[in-house]
Amino acid sequence: MTELTGMTPQELADWCKEQGLPAFRGKQIFHWIHQSADFDEMTNLPLALREKLKETAVAQPVTILEKRQSALDDTVKFLFGLKDGNCVEGVLMHYHHGYTLCISTQVGCRMGCTFCASTLEGCVRSLTAGEMLGEILCANRFLAGKDRVHNVVLMGSGEPLDNYDNVMKFLRLLREEDGVNIGLRNVSLSTCGIVPRMYDLAEENLPVTLSVSLHAPNDEIRRQTMPIAKVYPMADVLEACRNYIQKTGRRVIFEYALVGGVNCEDRHAEELASKLRGMQCHVNLIPLNVVEERHLKGVTEQTVRRFTEKLESLHISVTRRREMGDDIEGACGQLRRKTLQSMEKKQ
Ligand code: SAH
Repeated sequence: MTELTGMTPQELADWCKEQGLPAFRGKQIFHWIHQSADFDEMTNLPLALREKLKETAVAQPVTILEKRQSALDDTVKFLFGLKDGNCVEGVLMHYHHGYTLCISTQVGCRMGCTFCASTLEGCVRSLTAGEMLGEILCANRFLAGKDRVHNVVLMGSGEPLDNYDNVMKFLRLLREEDGVNIGLRNVSLSTCGIVPRMYDLAEENLPVTLSVSLHAPNDEIRRQTMPIAKVYPMADVLEACRNYIQKTGRRVIFEYALVGGVNCEDRHAEELASKLRGMQCHVNLIPLNVVEERHLKGVTEQTVRRFTEKLESLHISVTRRREMGDDIEGACGQLRRKTLQSMEKKQ
């Protein structure tokens, strides 16, 4: 089966020609796919052609297996199903400036961060560009024409820079005018800090916001929770960030999960501030979402406030990440894990 979802209009036109079809069919199919339509709904294609396409190609490679709607806010957590039986998570959040979808870039993850549920069983495989787009198409379909996804964050399971080529292809597809038409200024890509790929990204000339998971003020602490820190020291990560800022003119966001007893003392805030001083950046504080299988402690409200105020007093731009969908396991690979576990129990 050929997955048509990740193809550009030109690639689809070429594919149609190879199939002995006129090239304009490619344009039609592209339009429909990005409207979240499956072959049956492509009403300006002849019925016989639709039937033929169904046998050889895939238009919508992702389906919604499960969804949980928060009772606290408008957040919806999706478990997305892929054609090979794998599943990934996505989270749809309603902000005043529109809907944001958090998408996954890999099934699982091989980065091994000790606080994260997505990486517990390693990386199964990377998603294709079409599958990443498919997550958005599912969410748009869920919104049923009443609204659509305006912003995308690559912060679900997986390390986007460990699936570099597919992610770049996906980003370029997003801004196709006849497609979902999402400007790359509305896209954030989060990385644990794969330094060479951060330099590559800076050369792509794509105005995406780069988020970097720092989670520590120095290498010693960072290595305790993030194996990647043993490969790329923090100084190199920060240098790659400065390069990104210089090349793109965009500020970098640093994510910092507060882990009880590990990285949330005043001295940690001071050390962090000293390293970020003078950088065009913003710090996003995330109180750790405690993952059952991981033996790390969360933090109190007071600790979050104190750390925030300390950074502010040192003139670092900082906010606390809004926690949404707390009641639906909105966080970090937990829904997929719970679902897999309950499936195992049933077997
Ligand atoms: N691999 C990418 C993106 C995926 S995770 C990255 O590392 O940035 C998105 C964010 O959620 C990252 O900052 C990640 O470190 C954070 N995260 C993962 N598990 C978490 C948890 N249990 N509590 C708080 N933040 C978590």
